[in-house]
Amino acid sequence: MATAVDVIVIGSGVNGLSAAALLAKSGKSVLVLEANDRPGGAVRTEQITLPGFHHDLFAMNLGLFAGGPVNAALGADLARHGFELVPSAKPFCSLFPDGSVLGVQADPAATLANVIALAPQDGLAWQCLTEQLGSWAPHLIGMLGADMPSVKAAKTLYKARKDLGNDGVYELVKLALASTRSFTDQHFTDPRVKALMASWGMHLDFAPDVPGGAMFAFLETFGGQLFGMVIGKHGAAGMINALVGVIEEYGGTVRTSAPVEHIDVTNGRATGVRIAGGEQFTARKAVISNVNPALMPALLPPEIAARPAVARARQFQPGLATMMMHLALDAQPDWINPQAKDYNYVHIGPYVDDMAMTYAHAQAGRLPDHPTLVVGQPTVTDPSRAPEGKHVLWVQVRMLPLTLADGRTWDDAAPAYAEHVLDLLEQYAPGLRGHILGSAVLSPADLPRYNVNLVQGDSLGGSHHPAQFFFLRPVPGWGRHRTPIDGLYVCGASTWPGGGVGGTSGALVADSLT
Ligand SMILES: Cc1cc2nc3c(=O)[nH]c(=O)nc-3n(C[C@H](O)[C@H](O)[C@H](O)COP(=O)(O)OP(=O)(O)OC[C@H]3O[C@@H](n4cnc5c(N)ncnc54)[C@H](O)[C@@H]3O)c2cc1C
Repeated sequence: MATAVDVIVIGSGVNGLSAAALLAKSGKSVLVLEANDRPGGAVRTEQITLPGFHHDLFAMNLGLFAGGPVNAALGADLARHGFELVPSAKPFCSLFPDGSVLGVQADPAATLANVIALAPQDGLAWQCLTEQLGSWAPHLIGMLGADMPSVKAAKTLYKARKDLGNDGVYELVKLALASTRSFTDQHFTDPRVKALMASWGMHLDFAPDVPGGAMFAFLETFGGQLFGMVIGKHGAAGMINALVGVIEEYGGTVRTSAPVEHIDVTNGRATGVRIAGGEQFTARKAVISNVNPALMPALLPPEIAARPAVARARQFQPGLATMMMHLALDAQPDWINPQAKDYNYVHIGPYVDDMAMTYAHAQAGRLPDHPTLVVGQPTVTDPSRAPEGKHVLWVQVRMLPLTLADGRTWDDAAPAYAEHVLDLLEQYAPGLRGHILGSAVLSPADLPRYNVNLVQGDSLGGSHHPAQFFFLRPVPGWGRHRTPIDGLYVCGASTWPGGGVGGTSGALVADSLT
């Protein structure tokens, strides 16, 4: 007989685990079924280069989780299961070819001083936007934490109108629709200040000229001064292990090496699942899918997958691809400006136009000459990740083609392109190659081998462009984390409020089931 629980969660990404942990604590019986041999999806820490060097293979910055609803609800439980965050007073900077560094510190006065030192004429605008963050943030964060569309979202909008007036709300809408180039051109003159903000758009698929990129870039750039950045002590996997610990403490189960092959639908309602090998499980209340929606129709009975409202999930589009390079070093990079040494992230774009070109090349299937590099230096704040005196470097190569126009596969192209990236890094950190003790490259072809949700090497769980965002995420008719099938819910980066380790979509689904 099939095992029966209240809620089955398919996939143990941070959102699936978050939903399961919150539901388990509320008294529901939960079962998480994970295809891989370990939980966590795009959150995974491994000694991938050499023993003693702990690399976050994918997500490293846990700021979204730290400030999100799951940590607020389960913080004490997670801490009991060993979850510990390491803060950084110097979250990120941009490094430029002329050796200048523009850094954001977890201290608005220090950051303003950094801006004024490079671009005195932009100091006032920086200060005004920092103040603006104070009045906008509660409304923006409220919106990002509300189901979409929902009464709560409408109430948040109503409160914004009450607090900010019509003009203030229009300014917020403008922010939500603006590109990073139009926003930064409106406020700043120095290309380095503009690049500092535009590089955050490149973390998603918001190249400088893509409408909708300014909001996330604004929150990250200016929020960095207030919230800093946090990473997980000994690695991001600590967060995953703690979530699993909480689920098990409250009676739930996380089962790995259990790929779900079929979702049962009885009388229009999701009633259970079948895993590879044929084992069957029954869900009394709900099935929550942490699976990329583009992959979901294949799990459903064919007659249901063919229904237009379900089949449209196949059209859910990926963002561009990402390559990860992990380096084990015998010393920190010798940056052309030593100030860069202290920051958790060093962004190397370098300028807004370079980022725009990178995006255009990637869209056309060409390898960008100067991809945007996000260089993570976790051992600056968490030395426990490497043997004493040694370091790990986390290099995210952003905005790469999903497929290559010259017909090569990513498996063919990655080794030479990784060398090209190292050549670029050498320009900013001369002698870097001489410090490398071990390395690992995860190309866009490798990403889905680790996690099927990372379709074609898209790290975002689907493009975040306006046509797939807000109440349209993932696809029309699947808002509020519901699907056209009763009892079948969705969470994860592909759903509102999008990618990142915030856990919010898992929390929103848990909320609607308790
Ligand atoms: C290279 C990279 C760097 C990143 N850096 C950051 C960062 O620094 N900070 C940040 O906030 N975010 C970052 N992100 C984004 C963030 O990691 C993801 O958005 C987030 O972890 C996705 O979580 P999720 O809940 O959508 O689930 P996923 O991580 O996508 O996990 C889903 C799980 O479901 C499993 N699954 C899928 N199908 C099935 C099935 N049929 N049966 C059983 N199991 C199944 C998969 O194996 C997987 O384990 C990064 C992502 C990548 C790839």
